[in-house]
Amino acid sequence: MTDRIFLSSPHMSDEGYEMQYVQEAFDTNWIAPLGQNVNGFEQELAEKVGSKAAAALSSGTGALHLALRAAGVDEGDIVFCSTLTFSATANPIIYQNATPVFIDSDHETWNMCSKALEEAFGKYPNVRAVIVVHLYGLSADMDKIMNLCNKHGVAVIEDAAESLGTYYKGVQTGTFGDYGVFSFNGNKIITTSGGGMLVSDNKERIAKTRFWATQSRDSARHYQHSELGFNYRMSNVVAGIGRGQLKVLDQRVEKKRYIYQFYKRELEHLDGVEMMPTNEWDEPNYWLSSMTLKGNVRPIEIMEALEKENIEARPIWKPMHKQPYFEKYNFVGTDVSEQLFENGVCLPSDTKMTDQDLEKVVKIIKNLW
Ligand SMILES: *Cc1c(COP(=O)(O)O)cnc(C)c1O
Repeated sequence: MTDRIFLSSPHMSDEGYEMQYVQEAFDTNWIAPLGQNVNGFEQELAEKVGSKAAAALSSGTGALHLALRAAGVDEGDIVFCSTLTFSATANPIIYQNATPVFIDSDHETWNMCSKALEEAFGKYPNVRAVIVVHLYGLSADMDKIMNLCNKHGVAVIEDAAESLGTYYKGVQTGTFGDYGVFSFNGNKIITTSGGGMLVSDNKERIAKTRFWATQSRDSARHYQHSELGFNYRMSNVVAGIGRGQLKVLDQRVEKKRYIYQFYKRELEHLDGVEMMPTNEWDEPNYWLSSMTLKGNVRPIEIMEALEKENIEARPIWKPMHKQPYFEKYNFVGTDVSEQLFENGVCLPSDTKMTDQDLEKVVKIIKNLW
């Protein structure tokens, strides 16, 4: 397994920052609960992204769930949701017994199409919240989306699980809406082995989120609960890994960009190849370098050729409105996200890849033409 080239795998700092924080947790016996690393990680991440407050949680999925609760989403409410995403974006809508309406992508950003969103507001004026995803580290067009959502007075939750280090017009994605969600799952640009963060400028709501995430314990000596609780808090050991990883985030983004530019230079001229879109207002973190194929070579051929050499590649996310579980819910749009799924492939984008590795991948792909 060690010589396998991955799409994106954990990459700890050369300096051992993560172990220093973890060691500190061991030395002080702050293994659990909470502790200095949790507080430190929350403050350092909030500062890095430019949010007033952050809550460290056990996963990005948990953060999305509590964001929906914080936004007041409840049984029977409608929530607009990007269709081209990982299922973790949509699942929490169901946890809240709310109803998703899936929104198509546009070609320019691969993310939520503002025209489809506008159409959706016309069809479902009583919508409660919008979850907009920044896919593969590409920014959604936040000016257009925020304008529409503000006009309709609807809460915005940004799923920035894949876009830590991505800037839209100079501002970190995940900080435009009422709530932003980051993930530190093993495949993300930085990882804590597993974990998530909810950010917001609303300190009070973040404090409430921490309360919900620790079983909603009222301040009483006996165990008293006036609200439904969850066990969603990040552990102090895990947060130590996060604090160390945050120190190398910029380095990781730099390497991801290098990988993307390598592929672009080597592959873009091949017949039918189109690299994922970059817009002048977008500074992506290039979490996964992806491309679409319009010619004779199909994504499956690339994935199979790479797999033979022990190299991982994957299709683009299958849209939620095409998933067996979610297809019963409504969808607004055309076939943009479906086409991206049919024609797209995510290339190995692991930050530990050497130039030799990149050359190997490129050579295997070029051989198919
Ligand atoms: C990874 C991911 C999540 C979920 O994060 P976890 O920390 O794994 O729960 C949510 N949305 C998107 C788009 C993701 O890629």
